[in-house]
Amino acid sequence: MKEFKIAVIPGDGIGPDIIREAVKVMTKVGEKYDTKFNFVEVKAGGDAIDAYGNPLPQETIDECKSSEAVLLGAVGGPKWDNLEGSKRPERALLGLRGALGLYANLRPAKVYNVLKSASPLKDEIIDEGVDLLVVRELIGGIYFGDRGTEEVNGVETAYDTEKYNVDEVKRIAHSAFKSAMKRRKKVTSVDKANVLDASRLWRKTVNEVAKEYPEVELNHLYVDNTAMQLVRKPSQFDVILTNNIFGDILSDEASMITGSIGMLASSSIREDSFGMYEPIHGSAPDIAGMDIANPLAQILSAAMLLEYSLNMSEAARDIEAAVEKVLNAGYRTADIYVEGTEKVGTTEMGKLVLEQI
Ligand code: NAD
Repeated sequence: MKEFKIAVIPGDGIGPDIIREAVKVMTKVGEKYDTKFNFVEVKAGGDAIDAYGNPLPQETIDECKSSEAVLLGAVGGPKWDNLEGSKRPERALLGLRGALGLYANLRPAKVYNVLKSASPLKDEIIDEGVDLLVVRELIGGIYFGDRGTEEVNGVETAYDTEKYNVDEVKRIAHSAFKSAMKRRKKVTSVDKANVLDASRLWRKTVNEVAKEYPEVELNHLYVDNTAMQLVRKPSQFDVILTNNIFGDILSDEASMITGSIGMLASSSIREDSFGMYEPIHGSAPDIAGMDIANPLAQILSAAMLLEYSLNMSEAARDIEAAVEKVLNAGYRTADIYVEGTEKVGTTEMGKLVLEQI
């Protein structure tokens, strides 16, 4: 029997409600594949502020570092909104990404056939299929470059710097090409190479890395065109590779196309197999503890964890197929409910997925 240590951070709001279901699903799929997951629960976000006065205690970082992967719920909530920046729950996310060296953010956006009415796009666009993955560089670029606010010729002036070196681009490009090899083998690299030096270096480096993946088709698009193409013809995309700021914006646009944030998972990874896996949505304090949150994004995050960190692709496919079967059978949580389907709560939805594994 294989054993893996998994750090579990339920966090705040609906975090504990949905992570409970994901842990059950992982345990069940583990039994099927003769694998034991040793879940170690640790605190981050508001939960950790309440317990230790610190959104990211050292103990949490240490437990995460000694695990194979991290499964995270969500952090934040109105209770901690008045704290100053460095003490806020959301600081834990940046802190974890930095402390764990997670430089690649992978965000799938998929429209399930039975949920296509949730998409704000027309049927004829959605019917061509939407199943893409945004691979965003996470710890470089303008969010981390030199910045300042100063007076220039008597006028208050502020600046931020977009800066990448070849090594930073190479490693994120490899993440994108490796992901494409597991998918439909197409990478679209997104930049602004008609204007920015950093983008020209980006493009040149991506072209170099592409030579190592001859099976993968590569094309380049400018970010403004990509924003348009995402709503015009999202079916053209498989893997979108981009920098930190463009990825921030495009991954939200891609999520919006699916129309259901309760369904979308994400992962932050590095070059070894370690990663942190979480839903894209927040802690939804408005529905916390009410047994109505959609646990599927969290459950699909667990599937990503199995695929990317534990190399258990078959188990990941089992979870994805189970989710699809439950949706096809007509079960919906309140956020994706439409007339003619059956409304179920968080626990019931988790149980239904479990039964399909
Ligand atoms: P949110 O994603 O928590 O909620 C937006 C809306 O979507 C709410 O109406 C919520 O009820 C609904 N929703 C979200 N997830 C759902 C689910 N699984 N099932 C059903 N409905 C769901 O965003 P927000 O309201 O802007 O933020 C709430 C808190 O979460 C804030 O403190 C914010 O800072 C934090 N946040 C955390 C993360 C994270 O932990 N990664 C990300 C975004 C926001």
